[in-house]
Amino acid sequence: MNIVRVALDVPLSSLFDYTVEGSVAVGQRVIVPFGRRQMVGVAMDCLATTDVPPERIKPVRQVLHDSAPLSGELLDLLRFCSDYYRYPIGQTVMSALPSRLRSDKPVISKPVLIYRLSARGAALDLDIFPKRRVVQLRILTKLAEEPCNLAQLRTLSVTAGAQLKVMMAEGWVENVALTKPHISSCGGGAQQHTFNNVHTLTDEQLQAVDAVTQPSGYACFLLHGITGSGKTEVYVHLMHQVLQRGGQVLLLVPEINLTPQLESYFRSRFPDVNLTSLHSGLSEGERLLNWQQAQEGAAQVVLGTRLSVFAELPRLALIIVDEEHDSSFKQQDGLRYSARDVAIFRASQRGVPIVLGSATPSLESYHNAQSGRYRMIRLTGRALAEARLPAVRCININQTVMHHGISENLLREIGLRIALKEQSLLFINRRGYAPVLMCGGCGWLSGCKNCAGKMVLHLNDKRLRCHHCGYQLHVPHSCPDCGNADLHPVGSGTQRVESVLQERFPEARILRVDRDSTRNKRTWKTMREQIHANEVDILVGTQMLVKGHDFPALTLVGVLNPDSALYSSDFRAAEKLFAQLVQVGGRAGRANKPGEVLIQTAFPDHPLFRALQSHDFDGWAASQLSERKMAGFPPFMYQAMLRAEGKQEQEVYGFLNTARTAGVALQHKVAILGVVPAALPRRANHVRAQLLIQGEKRKDLQHFLRAWQPLMDALPAKKLRWSLDVDPLEF
Ligand SMILES: [Zn+2]
Ligand SMILES: [Zn+2]
Repeated sequence: MNIVRVALDVPLSSLFDYTVEGSVAVGQRVIVPFGRRQMVGVAMDCLATTDVPPERIKPVRQVLHDSAPLSGELLDLLRFCSDYYRYPIGQTVMSALPSRLRSDKPVISKPVLIYRLSARGAALDLDIFPKRRVVQLRILTKLAEEPCNLAQLRTLSVTAGAQLKVMMAEGWVENVALTKPHISSCGGGAQQHTFNNVHTLTDEQLQAVDAVTQPSGYACFLLHGITGSGKTEVYVHLMHQVLQRGGQVLLLVPEINLTPQLESYFRSRFPDVNLTSLHSGLSEGERLLNWQQAQEGAAQVVLGTRLSVFAELPRLALIIVDEEHDSSFKQQDGLRYSARDVAIFRASQRGVPIVLGSATPSLESYHNAQSGRYRMIRLTGRALAEARLPAVRCININQTVMHHGISENLLREIGLRIALKEQSLLFINRRGYAPVLMCGGCGWLSGCKNCAGKMVLHLNDKRLRCHHCGYQLHVPHSCPDCGNADLHPVGSGTQRVESVLQERFPEARILRVDRDSTRNKRTWKTMREQIHANEVDILVGTQMLVKGHDFPALTLVGVLNPDSALYSSDFRAAEKLFAQLVQVGGRAGRANKPGEVLIQTAFPDHPLFRALQSHDFDGWAASQLSERKMAGFPPFMYQAMLRAEGKQEQEVYGFLNTARTAGVALQHKVAILGVVPAALPRRANHVRAQLLIQGEKRKDLQHFLRAWQPLMDALPAKKLRWSLDVDPLEF
């Protein structure tokens, strides 16, 4: 009998011992009894003896051989994450796996079906196809663009499955099974691939490629390139070099929306390279298949969102983190990891280079590059010599006529662009019609009954909606407090901006892009195509529009209400705003037309806007860093946040205060701040509060957390939820 130590998906910080006949490889999945259930787990260790008394130890029910064992390297990475982020080891290990491997049913590699047009289907003339067959028409149009799986087609309509059957019976659509490709080159070594080298690199780009490829072993590079400087082209050439040597590349991107676009771009450059994507938008079967391709070394490039940082990559030779400053690399629940930071650890563990790319690096990375921990590479010129950076101007909202949140000056500029057949984009980070409804009689505001926040007015469907808990109401006809019928919207959201524009420019084609408009009707992809085909005059949108999209006809960007971030209680708000404005400004004038950015603000002399106008990231970063240093904030301080929420205020504060007292008694080299309400003190009928811990050294903070967490685990906390967030981004 051997003993195997197993990681299970339970909220306990221990592993569990079982007996097993024969041998189990470390990293193999096993099915074991746990309480009255049976669970799947991962063998973390094989031992000869255990402290568990023989009468209590149970045997493994089944060793699963349906998938290759996890590598020691991945298990080490997960051990590190569990320790660093103070998250139970079993949950850490299991959360890194695709869901099919977490189930206690053996994996039957069901082939993923891909639907495509048959020759007959491709010959159909869609212009004369019966318009009442709406779903069929949508599917045919979609398949004419690219083959799709069922999950993708279901986003067009819930009846896609039934309609596909009809269309297959008609002989218009056929399906093919996507199976694992034959792997012949697993052993590494040099490989031949086609490389479409369509651009000549600029001197700066060449130097960047050389800098990363020269050293061997681990090095972290910060690729700081202005918008339009061609960072992607640097990535492409780095990939090419790694692929030639038979290595695998992991490319992390912040947004799931960006993956299809990037995927097809990289495919156009490397047509015969096996490029695989990993993100939560894939079906379970696809995700497993792609994960296994990476694990077997068949996937040469893995493109994915944060979860792909845990993909098995036996020949990993380069990691690239694009838009490294983006906060979506940080997971906000469960294992609260930063995929960027885990990627850096992974690169050093593996001894390979990592490239962090951004036009507006996070102050953490920038500071590390300045202090020599990372190496700085700069791209200061735009790749197209004739493309210039946009001119940035401020409009003082106190000195101009405003029309429901839009200034006359901005409206005039939009009018000029319409006449020139150029596009304008209005950026406002609030969806809905107005952020709140107010009573003119008594001052009543539309608060949410469950939260401390306000209900947002959505005029399209005449509802008030809470964006925190989802609670919604019909818009009342009169004030619930005083009965006054004089209710009016305060402030502007995307819908209101859209309606103001419609009134002013009745002929203009206006497209609103936010979570509401992209939810079901037309997908974001179709919208992007409309924008590219210049079928849109004015775009109104939230941050969805900001990231990474290239709109050639766009020459004007208007920024509507940036001021709240200037004096926010969140010390990162200004950093985020700067990054957002640089990115949204970078959308303008990318092709051969000069772009212009107009910012509506009450503080036109604020240093942030001055730095934007002079395109001076370095000056801005230096001033921010010196402020952070004075105030004792990251990157000069390391932080962890203890959060708690529950129905009873007493319990929430009682728990945090007890935890605080226990922490103070440990007498470690950290500062434990007071217990304070969360930014949103009540959400979905739960009281929320938090406690911040700061250490001058990462080591001190980690040392403290290791001693402190077991004390909290022992506190009674039945009726509340609490979590520890290491390197928190949200306050
Ligand atoms: Zn009232
Ligand atoms: Zn609410």
